[in-house]
Amino acid sequence: MSTARRHVPSNIPPSLMRCELPGWRYRIEDEDDVRCVYCGHAMDDHYDLNQWSVSFEDYASIHEQAIRDPEFPGPPLGHPHVVLRGDIIERKTCLHICPFCGWWIAEDRAVLPAMQWQHWVVTLASMSILQDLALNDIDLPLQEVRRYLIRKFEARASIHPRLFELTVASVLSDFGYKATATAYSNDGGVDVVLDDDSGGRIGVQVKRQRRSVEVEQIRAFLGALIMGNFTAGIFVSSSRFRRGAIRAAQKCSESIMPIELIDANRFLDMLGSVQLKHKPVPEDCGITRTEPLKFHCVNYSHLNTL
Ligand SMILES: [Zn+2]
Repeated sequence: MSTARRHVPSNIPPSLMRCELPGWRYRIEDEDDVRCVYCGHAMDDHYDLNQWSVSFEDYASIHEQAIRDPEFPGPPLGHPHVVLRGDIIERKTCLHICPFCGWWIAEDRAVLPAMQWQHWVVTLASMSILQDLALNDIDLPLQEVRRYLIRKFEARASIHPRLFELTVASVLSDFGYKATATAYSNDGGVDVVLDDDSGGRIGVQVKRQRRSVEVEQIRAFLGALIMGNFTAGIFVSSSRFRRGAIRAAQKCSESIMPIELIDANRFLDMLGSVQLKHKPVPEDCGITRTEPLKFHCVNYSHLNTL
């Protein structure tokens, strides 16, 4: 099964480099103001020293690289200001996760004392990249699909029609309906049935199509609603509705039964408005102590303690 979230195996990809990396703070106790590079939303912070392992040697190797750099402005290798004492006096680990789309950054920061007076601060970070989901796989977990669509809504054009139906049913159920996707073939023009609290039965048609929905499709949908004894209808499209289709739905709502139209943009709004009910947790990121993250140094500095 494919997954939308993977940590970067070697280097931060160029697509993410054009985004601003989180504004790392100077003091270890400061919280980072990290925003999702896809949604711009503030991330949820999970602080837990036991989420993954980073050894003293991992930090120390970054420190040594910096000292060996000919451009390094500080004292030379072997000077007691740069020779590390061998312990970590403060460490902070934080997993920042976007509550909407699941994008994450893992941050690990350590303060390393030198033999004499100086403290060196190494911040390591690892971030997820968006991998393409095979949206023709109708067995994909729907939360993965929903998060993926938030990050890459244009992918709706290639989603399997059945998977789109299931995704729509899942989103509508978050609005309080009991939503049931009907059998994929021979559904009589109704893809999802919604039962509301007042005994109403709403038929939903879900169309994954690139062209705009035509008036004929609304008429055919009305026929399916009448034949199926529904009290109302909702037409969800991955595209837009032609003016004639909108007029037909309005006319139908005034005289026969309510038909609501949900186009792609409105569906994305609806998806975003209920997504916080399914905030990703650290376990969703696939980070474990036994599968070490590959970290990238994103900051290196020293605290002058003189
Ligand atoms: Zn996001």
